[in-house]
Amino acid sequence: MIRTITSTATALGLAATAFATAHAAPAAGDATATTTALPVVNMALVEVAADVEGKYGNQPLGDDASTRLVQSAIRAKGISTSVDGWYGRGTNSAYRTWQRKLGYSGIDANGLPGPGSLGKLGANRFTIAHKVDIGSRHDNYRGVRVNTRTKKMLAAADAKVPFAIYLSQGSYRYPNGASASAGTHDGGGVVDISVGNMTTTQRWQAVKALRQVGFAAWYRTSAQGFTPHVHAVAIGDTDLWQANGLYTNRDQVGDYYKGRTGLASNGPDNTPSSYRVAFTWWERYAGL
Ligand SMILES: [Zn+2]
Repeated sequence: MIRTITSTATALGLAATAFATAHAAPAAGDATATTTALPVVNMALVEVAADVEGKYGNQPLGDDASTRLVQSAIRAKGISTSVDGWYGRGTNSAYRTWQRKLGYSGIDANGLPGPGSLGKLGANRFTIAHKVDIGSRHDNYRGVRVNTRTKKMLAAADAKVPFAIYLSQGSYRYPNGASASAGTHDGGGVVDISVGNMTTTQRWQAVKALRQVGFAAWYRTSAQGFTPHVHAVAIGDTDLWQANGLYTNRDQVGDYYKGRTGLASNGPDNTPSSYRVAFTWWERYAGL
C-alpha cells in the first residue's frame, strides 16, 4: 500500500525526479517509478492475432504494437524471431520455445501466450491489459467439461435465446482419452451444441448468439455430412490445441474471420446474413 501511494505521488508531481532517479540508479528493488512507463500489451488482441494470422498472414486487427512487444521480448530471451507485428507460425514456434524454456509442455507449450508465460516474458518490459483468463480447465457447462471462460461465454449466449443450450461435446478430450472429432475437441475453448430439440430457426439463433459473445460458430448440417450440431470455438482461448503441426481450432477462427466454414473444403460460410454479426471476442464483448 505504501508503494502504491508513493507511485501515485510520483505520477502527480515528481515524475521528472523519478525519471532521473530511475535512470541514474536502476536498482532492482526500485521498480515503482519505472512501472508507470512500461508499454502495454493488449493480451486479448495478441491471442486473436495468434488465431487468425497463422493461416491468413498479418491482418488489421489492431494487435501489431502489442505483438511487436511480445516478439522483441522473445528475441531478448535469445530466441530467434522476427519483430514485425505479425503473429504467424514463426512467432507461434518462437513462443513455444519460450514456454518450453520455462519447463512447460503439452497444452502449456502451444505457442499461445498464457498469463504465466506472458507475465514472465514481460517482467520489466511491459504490462498486460485485457488479460485472457481461462480459469479452471475442469469446469463444466450443464455437466459437460469446458474451462471457466468458455462456461461464462456459453452462459452469456444462452441468456440471449429463448431456449436452453446444451452441449453434445465439450473440450479437453485428448488429455483424458482418445483424440476426438479429428482432433478438433482435444484442447480448450471448443464445444458442440446439441440441436436435436431445436427448430431450424433456433439453430441459427444459437449460432448468432454464440458469435455475439465471441465464438467462431457454425451450424453443421446433414447436407455437409454431419449429424446436425453447432460447432463453436472460443476465439482467443489460450488452450486451443496444437499437435503434430496441426492448428485446427486456431485456423477455424481464421476461417470464421474470413467468412469461411472452417471445414476441409472451407467454402463460403453458409450462415444466412441475418444471423451474422461483426467479428468479436469475449474480452471485448464483456468489457474485460
Ligand atoms: Zn465440434
